[in-house]
Amino acid sequence: MLLAEIISVGTELLFGEIVDTNAAFLARELGERGVILHRKTVLGDNLGRVSAAITLALSRADLVILGGGLGPTDDDLTRESIADALGETPGEDPELLAWLEGLYAARGREMPQVNRKQTWLIPSAEALPNPVGTAPGWFVRTGGKYVVALPGPPREMHRMWREQVLPRLPLPDHALVATTIHTQGIGESNVAELLAGLTQNANPSVATYARKTGVDVRVAASAGTEAQAHELMAPLLETVRAHLSRWTWGEDGQTLAGALGDGLAGRSLGVIEAGSAGALCGLLADTAGFLDAAVTGDHARLITLGLTPVTLRDAGLVSEGAALELAAGAREHLGADIGLAVVVSVTGENAGQVHAAISSAKGHKAASVNWPGDAAQMRERAAVTALALAYR
Ligand code: ATP
Ligand code: MG
Repeated sequence: MLLAEIISVGTELLFGEIVDTNAAFLARELGERGVILHRKTVLGDNLGRVSAAITLALSRADLVILGGGLGPTDDDLTRESIADALGETPGEDPELLAWLEGLYAARGREMPQVNRKQTWLIPSAEALPNPVGTAPGWFVRTGGKYVVALPGPPREMHRMWREQVLPRLPLPDHALVATTIHTQGIGESNVAELLAGLTQNANPSVATYARKTGVDVRVAASAGTEAQAHELMAPLLETVRAHLSRWTWGEDGQTLAGALGDGLAGRSLGVIEAGSAGALCGLLADTAGFLDAAVTGDHARLITLGLTPVTLRDAGLVSEGAALELAAGAREHLGADIGLAVVVSVTGENAGQVHAAISSAKGHKAASVNWPGDAAQMRERAAVTALALAYR
C-alpha cells in the first residue's frame, strides 16, 4: 500500500486567486491507480512552512507530491524547501545547465542568471525533464520514500506526471472500474432511501451525487485486474440499475439532450424559449432532429407563435398555460412533429419560476419548478427542466 500526500505551493492558491486544479487532478490520478491519498495541503511561497510541511508529510506518507514553486524567481522556493527538509545542499547540474542554456539559445536569447536555480539538484534527486517549459521536476528517493516536485502550470504538470512520475512509482496491482447511472425526477434522499443497505459497501461501492441534470449514482469496484473488478461490480450494478430504472435516462458519458435525441427516433423537435435566453437551444445544439427555435420574450412575437392574449392577461407569460400554448405553437408555427416550450422569470417577484411544456400528436404535458439562484442558474435550470420533461 502506498500512502500519499499532496502539497500545493503558491500564495495565489492560498488566497484563492487561482483554484488548485492540480491537486484535484492528482487526487483522481492517485485514486484510479490504487494509491491512498490522505491529505492535501495548500501553502504560500514560504521556505520554512513548506519545509516543515514536507518533513511532517514524510513522517506519515510514502509519497509526497509538491506542485508549483519551481519557477526562476525569488518566491519559487520548492527546491530550497526540499533541500532544507532533507538536510541536503543543492548544486547546479551540468547537464541541466546545458539543456536550459540550449533552450534559450534555440529561442535566440541568452539565459537570464535567475534561471540558474532551475538547474539545481540535490544528491538524492533525479531530474524530471520538462518537455513544455523551463522548470525540470525533481524525483527524490529518501529512506524508502518518495518526494516529487512538479511545476505549477497544469499543462506541464499533467504531462510530466504521466510521462515521468508514473513510470518511476511502485504502483500497486490495481484496476478500478465504475459505471455512473444518470437519473431525473427523483431527489438525492429518495435515491438514498431506495438504495438503503447498498451504500455501506466499501468495495464494490455505491455513491450518489446531485447534478444539474438530476441525481447520478456511481457504482465502482477495484481489484487486481480489470476483469476481476468487473466481476466484483456486476451483481451490485444490476441491482442498482433495477432499483432506478423508472428514473434512469442514461449512463456514463451520455447527455440528457443526447438521450432525448435518441428518443425522437426521426421525429423533429421545435422549441420556443421565453426568458431562458437560448439556454435550452444551447443544450440541444448537437441533437439530431432539433429543427427550429424561437428565443424571445417579446409578447407580440409570442402571440404570433401561439400564445393567446387571454392567457397572457389572466395568467401571465410565466405560467403553465402559456408554456402549453407555446408548445402547441412550436408544432404549428415551426412545423415540428414535437413542440417544446419553456418560460422562466429570472427577475422580479416570481424569479426562479419555470414552466415547461411539450406537445405531440399523442397529447401534451407540463412541468413546473421553482428554484431560486442567480439568473444564469435559473436559465440553466429552466433548460434542464424542459429537457427532462421532453425525455420522460
Ligand atoms: P513557472 O516556471 O511557471 O513559474 P512554477 O513551478 O513556479 O512554474 P508557479 O509559479 O507556482 O509554478 O505557478 C505558475 C502558474 O501555474 C500559476 O500562476 C498558475 O496559473 C498555475 N498553477 C500553479 N499551481 C497550480 C495549481 N495547483 N492548480 C492550477 N494551476 C496552478
Ligand atoms: Mg513561479
